[in-house]
Amino acid sequence: EINSSQQAIDLEDKFGAHNYQPLPVVLSRGEGVYLWDVEGKKYFDFLSAYSAVNQGHCHPRIKDALIEQAGTLTLTSRAFYNDVLGPYEKYITEYFGFDKVLPMNTGVEAVETAIKIARKWGYEEKGVPENEGIIIVAENNFHGRTTTVISFSDDENARRNFGPFTAGFISIPYNDLNALQKAFEKNPHVVAFLVEPIQGEAGVITPDEDYIRKASLICKTHNALLLADEIQTGIARTGSLLAVCGNCNCEGHCEKQDTYTRPDILILGKALSGGFLPVSAVLADDAVMNVIQPGQHGSTYGGNPLGVKVAMTALEVVRDEKMAQNARKLGKIFRERMQLLVERSPLVSTVRGKGLLNAIVINDRPDSATAWEICISLKENGLLAKPTHGNIIRFAPPLVMTEEELHSCCDIIEKTILNF
Ligand code: PLP
Repeated sequence: EINSSQQAIDLEDKFGAHNYQPLPVVLSRGEGVYLWDVEGKKYFDFLSAYSAVNQGHCHPRIKDALIEQAGTLTLTSRAFYNDVLGPYEKYITEYFGFDKVLPMNTGVEAVETAIKIARKWGYEEKGVPENEGIIIVAENNFHGRTTTVISFSDDENARRNFGPFTAGFISIPYNDLNALQKAFEKNPHVVAFLVEPIQGEAGVITPDEDYIRKASLICKTHNALLLADEIQTGIARTGSLLAVCGNCNCEGHCEKQDTYTRPDILILGKALSGGFLPVSAVLADDAVMNVIQPGQHGSTYGGNPLGVKVAMTALEVVRDEKMAQNARKLGKIFRERMQLLVERSPLVSTVRGKGLLNAIVINDRPDSATAWEICISLKENGLLAKPTHGNIIRFAPPLVMTEEELHSCCDIIEKTILNF
C-alpha cells in the first residue's frame, strides 16, 4: 500500500522503465475537473491525460456502463460476433457520418490502421505500382510511437537508435499548401496526406483557418486520401465535435459546406472512451474501407464489448452535456485572460489554440527549464499542466469545467506567472 508520494515515485523509478519524465505528483483520485494526490491535496487537471479525459474524471454515466458491461461480457475476440459491437458500429458511424468503422485500441494503432488502409487503397483502387505508395506527412507531427510511425517523425530523441525505419513517407512544412501542391507534383504515387488539424504535441500549432479545407481539395485533385488524425483534437476538445468541423457552431455532426472538411479517413482515440479504456477507431466510407478483407488486419481487443460499450456512452455524454459548446465558450474566455497575461508578463510571449486546446509560449529557449519550473510552481498552487517542446505549456482541462472554475484556474496561472 502506498502511504506517501515519495514511496510511489521510488517504486516507479526502481521497477518501471524510464520512458517518461513525470511531474513529481502522485495522483490517487479523480472526479470531474479535479485530481487528488496521495497526501490529499486537490488540483485542477489542466492536461486531461493529453485530452483523453474530455468528459471529466470518472464520469458517473461512463463508469456505470463500464461496471454493467464488465459483469456481462468483456471479450470474445473477433473470432465470434458479440451483441455490443454491431450497435456501436452503427452508432459511431452515424455520429461521425461515415459508412464504416474499424475498431482498434490505442491511438497509434489507429494511425497504423489508417496507413495500411491508405496504402492498400492506393494499390488496389488508385493503381499505384505495389510498394511505391507515398504518404505525405507534416513536419513536427506527432502520431505515436511505433516503428512505422516514428519513421516519419522529426523528433530525433524519439527516433535515435530505433531504425531501420519504414519507407514511403515524405515530410513537408505544416500549414504550407504550396509545399503540399509541390509534393504532389513531384510524386505521382502519393496515396494520402496524413495530418493533425491542430498539431497538439508540437505545441498546439494552429494552422490557417482554411488550411485543412484547401489541403483536402488538393488531395481530391490528385486522387489521394486525406487522413485526419483527430486523436487529440477530436471529440469536442477544440470547441466543435471535430477540429475538421472548422468554426461550425452546431453541437454534433453536420456537413455544412462552408466550415466542415470531410476527411477520407478519420482517426480517433483518447477521449473516445472518456479516459476509461484504450479505445480507438478508424472511420471511412465503403469505397476505402472495403479494401480490407478477413485476415488482413485486426486486434484481439479491438471492438471488445467492454471498450465499445464505454465508447458509446462516452460519445453520448459529450453530446448530452454539450461539451463542444462549453469548450468553445470557455476557450474564448481562457485565451482572453491569457492575452492579458501576455501584456503584463515578459515571461509569456504568445497564447494560441482553439476551444479548450490551448498553449502559452514561455519567452525562453526550448532547452531552458523555465516552463518546467513554472509547471512545478503551478502544481504547488493547485493546477496540473505539463510543458511540451521545452518552452511551451499546454492547457487542456476537462470539458466539464464551469466558467467559475475556469476563472479560478486563470487566477492561479496569473498569480503563478506574475510571481515567477
Ligand atoms: N496522434 C495524436 C495526434 C496524438 O496526440 C497521440 C497521442 O498523444 C497519438 C496519435 C498516439 O496515441 P496513443 O498514445 O494512444 O498511441
